[in-house]
Order: sequence, then structure tokens, then C-alpha cells
Amino acid sequence: MPCQECKFGWILTPQGAKPCECKRIAQREKLIEKASIPARYRHCTIDNYHPQGSPESNYFLSQATAKIIAARVISEFPTEQGLLLQGHCGVGKTHLAVGILHSLIDRNMEAGLFCDLTALFTKIQSTWNPHSSDTTLDILTPILQSPYLVLDELGGVRTTQWSQDLLMQVVNARYTANLLTIITTNYLDTEAGSAEILTDRVGERIRSRLKQMARPVQILGTDYRSSRESPRL
Ligand SMILES: [Zn+2]
Repeated sequence: MPCQECKFGWILTPQGAKPCECKRIAQREKLIEKASIPARYRHCTIDNYHPQGSPESNYFLSQATAKIIAARVISEFPTEQGLLLQGHCGVGKTHLAVGILHSLIDRNMEAGLFCDLTALFTKIQSTWNPHSSDTTLDILTPILQSPYLVLDELGGVRTTQWSQDLLMQVVNARYTANLLTIITTNYLDTEAGSAEILTDRVGERIRSRLKQMARPVQILGTDYRSSRESPRL
């Protein structure tokens, strides 16, 4: 249906023709589509990320701080090069990561990319099949070149030598090219008891590389086991 305002994408003003808002909206939808954000996160913005719990609690404060850092990554783009959002399930890491992606797409009108790491490994393995028409490079190129990338669920699968090499290649290429990479992981760097930490899942080499290129943001949740928060009575 043609736009009621302009009919053909441009509005004539005394200063000349300017693009109509409908053009921008259509272009934005295309960019969001291109970013491959999963349906369940399509609504996520920084504004609609709401820290949970009582405002004095450690977990509320950590979530509120994460929100401020996310907003700063957007306003100061491209200063920050990497963000490592760490926290247990349900604290909103992917929400914040997608929120950053949405805002940067809106602001720069340039596509970013959402990449689920488990799906990426599976996809690349499928190219090893001789009947596959895709090559590893076809799949990796947009991930290496996207101006802003979300790598979701780091450590979701325990890495092996080849997946660690692949991750290193991605992370190094983006770091060298000064491209923003936002990583989420359910694994922390310390845990009470014998629970696995991030290094157990991705190896020493990747963990230490990330220390150099990504600002760690730990987001606590109500289920945070080693929290010093004492229960409210
Ligand atoms: Zn229009």
C-alpha cells in the first residue's frame, strides 16, 4: 500500500525533496530482518530492560549498572570494542545485547548481526558434508565483517579444539578490525562449589583473549548462589 504522506517515498518541501519517514521505517525493517534476531528477542530494547528485585539488592544494582553500561556503549559507539555479559539464566543478558544491536541499527542505519554460537558451530559442521553448497567462509564472512555482532551463549556447548580455533579466529579478526562484539555467557569466572566456570567451557586461551578485548559485565540474578545478599525476612 502506498504511503499516504508521500506516495513515492519523497516529500517536497520549500527546501527541496526530502526522504519520507516511511522510507526510513521500511529500510529499518529490512536491516532488523538482516540482523537475524530471534523472534523471542525482537521486542528487546535498552529502555524496556527493567532490573528485577528490591532496589537495594545486589542483583538489582548489578542489573541497573549493566543497563547503564549498555546505554553508554550505544552513545559512545564506536569507542567500546567488546562487552562480555556474564550471568546465570534469566538476568537479561541477551535482552541487553539485542537492545544494543537495535539501537545501533536505528542510529547508524547499518545492519548488525545476532549469532547463536551453538547454531553457528552446527552450521559450520554441516558444510563439511560434501553435498553442502555453503562453505565455511560463506558462513563466517558476515560474522567477521558485521560492524556490531552479538555472540550469544558462549560456553553453551563445551568447546573442542576446532571450535576454540574458530572462536579465536572470529574474536581476533574482529578485534584487529576494531569491530564491536557483544558476547553473552551463562558462565562466570568464579563459582561457589564445583560449578563450572567460563574457562572450563571455552578454555584458557579464549578466556584470556576476551580479557584483553571485552569489558566484563557481571549481571546477578535472584538465584545467584554466591551472592552476599542475605535473604530479607
Ligand atoms: Zn511516505
